[in-house]
Amino acid sequence: MLSIRTHSQRGNTLIEILVVIAILAVLGGMSYNYLIGGKNKNGEKVKTPMEAGKSTACLMNLEQVRLGIKNFKLADTDNEKNPESLADLKFPRESLICPDSKQEYLYDKTTGEAHCSTKGHEKN
Ligand SMILES: [Zn+2]
Repeated sequence: MLSIRTHSQRGNTLIEILVVIAILAVLGGMSYNYLIGGKNKNGEKVKTPMEAGKSTACLMNLEQVRLGIKNFKLADTDNEKNPESLADLKFPRESLICPDSKQEYLYDKTTGEAHCSTKGHEKN
C-alpha cells in the first residue's frame, strides 16, 4: 500500500528555517542596545531599562532631600541657614543614600546642595 505524505507531514524546509533565523537575528539586533546596553549613533552609552530605573529612583530620592533642605532653610526664619549636615533634616537614613550604589549623598554646607556621587545618576 502506498503512503501519501501531505505538506504538513514533511516538516519545515531549510528555507523556512533560515527565514525564521534571519527574522530573529534582525529583532535581536534591534533590541540589543535596550536590553544589554550599547552605544547610540552619537557614540553615547545607552542605559538599559534597569540602569534607567535605578538612576530615576536616585533622582526622585535626591529631589526629596533637596526639598528637605529648602524646608529646613524656610523653617529657620531668622537667617535661613543651611543645615550643618543632611542628618539635620531628620530623614530616615535610607533616604540619605543612593538606592543604587548605597553611597551617602554628597552635601555642601556652604551652598546647601546635595548630589549623588554615582556616575550617570545626575546629568553632569
Ligand atoms: Zn545615585
